[in-house]
Amino acid sequence: MKYEAVIGLEVHTQVRTASKMFCSCANAFGSEPNTNVCPVCMGYPGVLPVPNEKAIRATVKAGLLTGCTIAKFSKFDRKNYFYPDMPKNYQISQYDLPFCTNGKIHLSGTGFSGEPLPEKDIGITRIHLEEDVAKLTHFHHDSGVDYNRAGVPLMEIVSEPDLRSADEAYAYLNNLKEIMRFGEIGDCDMEKGQMRCDVNISLRPVGQKEFGTKIELKNLNSFRAVHRAIDYEIERQAELLDQGVTLRQETRGWNDDRGESYLMRTKESAHDYRYFPEPDLMPVTFTDEDIEAIRATLPELPEAKRQRFIDSYGLTAYDAGVLTADKELAAYFDTAAKLVKTPKLIANWITSSLLALTNDVAGCPVTPEKLAGLVNAIDSGKINGKIAKDVFAEMFESGKDADTIINEKGLAQVSDTSAISGAVSEVLAQFTKQLEEYRGGNGKILQFFVGQVMKLTKGKANPGMVVAELKKQLGE
Ligand code: ADP
Ligand code: ZN
Ligand code: MG
Repeated sequence: MKYEAVIGLEVHTQVRTASKMFCSCANAFGSEPNTNVCPVCMGYPGVLPVPNEKAIRATVKAGLLTGCTIAKFSKFDRKNYFYPDMPKNYQISQYDLPFCTNGKIHLSGTGFSGEPLPEKDIGITRIHLEEDVAKLTHFHHDSGVDYNRAGVPLMEIVSEPDLRSADEAYAYLNNLKEIMRFGEIGDCDMEKGQMRCDVNISLRPVGQKEFGTKIELKNLNSFRAVHRAIDYEIERQAELLDQGVTLRQETRGWNDDRGESYLMRTKESAHDYRYFPEPDLMPVTFTDEDIEAIRATLPELPEAKRQRFIDSYGLTAYDAGVLTADKELAAYFDTAAKLVKTPKLIANWITSSLLALTNDVAGCPVTPEKLAGLVNAIDSGKINGKIAKDVFAEMFESGKDADTIINEKGLAQVSDTSAISGAVSEVLAQFTKQLEEYRGGNGKILQFFVGQVMKLTKGKANPGMVVAELKKQLGE
């Protein structure tokens, strides 16, 4: 490829609050259309907006989690335009003084295609807060407007043009979503329209410093669509450049069914939004103390958590990645791991057994304390790994703890030397033919004897002690 792609993303995410940005209507998804509405969010004359402080704090939190500078003085502005999705004919947004500027998101791990990504920071130009607009639904002959979404708090996160591939953009979106979820700022469910993304993309010859002409892509409704659209657009632009065509700035839509982008408008028809300071709202000011108070509420982010799981619990990078993919799962592991000597075993039980049965670890009958109880029973030699599997299944069924099940069913491991040596003698006396083979030099038979002793003790013998006792009686 003789061109390098330059990509910047503009991401909108809804803030998770009980009420809307400037009125007390519910911020809820899935209600009957036009039921969460009032004169404020319907744009009736004579009403005044009242800002939602929780949404402002959440935006500052998003800024702090991405290393942004928080503005001590900022304000809301009016973005004027005429469209049925905006009943006031202007959207309250932020123009020149957003809440957050100049942050970054660290990229690492693998992209959509599984290729490892270069370790790098993607700059965050700004994060501002605005109100969402109504949702339009186009039917066969007419269109419907649902104002439930109008006025829902919406953050816009603008990245620097630091991304270089579809894979990097995909990873950036995943990281951003993770941050929003861990910070309890928003759920970022793209299917519910809670997260929406516009892609700006240009090509330049490899080695050239200046950026090429950028194309903005809209209507991308999944991370996968973002990935596909970028790959498509890189090829489309490269072909045009190869033909010597001079690109013009344009906005294009993405048709995911056809796997193609299409022209929406050119730069010439760009809007002039006539931004001006919102006269119905006071500027917003923060003191250092205000900002520090919000900083004190920040959660540990996935990347820091991953590293901590590796450093203090001895997990592999892979396991740490699996266990931090979800906030609840990470908390589950963290709680259980603290209660045992071998956190690695907790990780194994979660990834190989628990996640095979449920994704909802927080609500599952095997609590982290109970899983720790099981691992402690294994560590202390009370039960062996094989019996533990049965105990675990029973724990998941009944919600009982490991010790109760072990006692009720008499599953405690036989570590009593005389019981084990008795079982070993019995097996050696019974399988004379195999014993001859073993003496004849077939060392593999030892495993057969171990199996028979385990069978005789109903799986409860301590396997290490069985092997030692066998070797002793076989005269080794
Ligand atoms: P506009 O004035 O058209 O809104 P901005 O400079 O505000 O453009 O940038 C909007 C987005 O486009 C940002 O995410 C930015 O990183 C990205 N961007 C800017 N220039 C380019 C370019 N030449 N190629 C790709 N992305 C770009
Ligand atoms: Zn309202
Ligand atoms: Mg811009």
